[in-house]
Amino acid sequence: MDFCIAEINIKEWFFKMEKKANPSISCSVEQCANNNCKGYCSLDKIKVGTHESNPTVSQCVDCESFVLGNNNCAR
Ligand code: SF4
Repeated sequence: MDFCIAEINIKEWFFKMEKKANPSISCSVEQCANNNCKGYCSLDKIKVGTHESNPTVSQCVDCESFVLGNNNCAR
C-alpha cells in the first residue's frame, strides 16, 4: 500500500516537472490541465473567444483551450 502511494506521488511530481511554460501565455487557472502550476500555460498557442454577442469587458472573454484537469496543482 505504501508503495502505491509513493508511486502516485512520484507520478504527480513528474507531471509538475514536465509541464513546460510558455512565457508568452501567463495564466493563473490551475484547474486547467494545460496549466503548468507555475503561472503559465504549457500550450504553444491557445484560442480565445467570447460567450457574449457584444463583448465589452474582460469577463466576456474566455480561453477556449481550457481543459478541466485533475487539480494536480493543489497537491
Ligand atoms: S489552456 Fe487557457 S486556461 Fe488552460 S492553462 Fe492555457 S491559457 Fe490557461
